[in-house]
Amino acid sequence: MSRTRRACPRLPGLVVLVAAILTAALTAVPASRAHAFGADGHRIVGELAQRQLTPEARVAIERLLATLPDAQEPLALADISTWADEIRDNEAYRWTAPLHYVNFPLGTCTWQAERDCPDGRCVIAAIERFARVLSDRDAPDAQRRKALKWLVHLVGDIHQPLHTAYAEDKGGNTFRVFYRGSASNLHAVWDSAILAAAKRNWREHARTLAVRPVEGEVQWTAQAPVRWAEESCRLIHSAEIYPPRPGRLPRNYINRHLPLVEQQLVLAGARLAALLNATLQ
Ligand SMILES: [Zn+2]
Repeated sequence: MSRTRRACPRLPGLVVLVAAILTAALTAVPASRAHAFGADGHRIVGELAQRQLTPEARVAIERLLATLPDAQEPLALADISTWADEIRDNEAYRWTAPLHYVNFPLGTCTWQAERDCPDGRCVIAAIERFARVLSDRDAPDAQRRKALKWLVHLVGDIHQPLHTAYAEDKGGNTFRVFYRGSASNLHAVWDSAILAAAKRNWREHARTLAVRPVEGEVQWTAQAPVRWAEESCRLIHSAEIYPPRPGRLPRNYINRHLPLVEQQLVLAGARLAALLNATLQ
């Protein structure tokens, strides 16, 4: 779920350069963090959705994924859920970084397309766009397959509250915290550290979450991505996601927030299934 951001275009060049260097230094985290439990969050969402597919959607997905050139065995949604993060460092895909998140102005969680999603480059517009491609039976398989890989990933991202947050601190990426004696940032804590505290491998964790009740509106509609993002954004305040100050995390912070992370994964899994079932019926 990790995200990187471009510098604010309003700043003059030198300031932007210095800010970029400082930001890179401040947000540097060990390489092992990059796709560790962030990846497991996505796999859990994929697995939860897989279990809720209609027979029609399951067959359509199997057919699309079976045509992958190097597929050794049938792929499941969990297997393709991390692709969108894996390709981000690839030059040809650099432009896709803003598709993983949306920024709201400080103090509001009400989305305005022109203000919050310039050129359609945000997670809300991306989900809408890829859902249209996937539902188009006349689109080439390669395009629909790519749309499916994006959707499985982005429906996870939009349920991580710090992917629907504020530009000022790059969705918590520059909010420095210390956890277990290591420097980290709030975004990384929500991508991976909280989930890691559950101490379960992702398959086992998905199995336990599969029987949890889904709390929230699940149905897929054209307005759903906006509703999901606004809801995630509101959690930032209602669930007190920001500690009072940067630095050492308050005692019990991780354990206190694990139920919310799990609830968001359950919701994301159910909503991804609803989207795929409606799109591939
Ligand atoms: Zn992502």
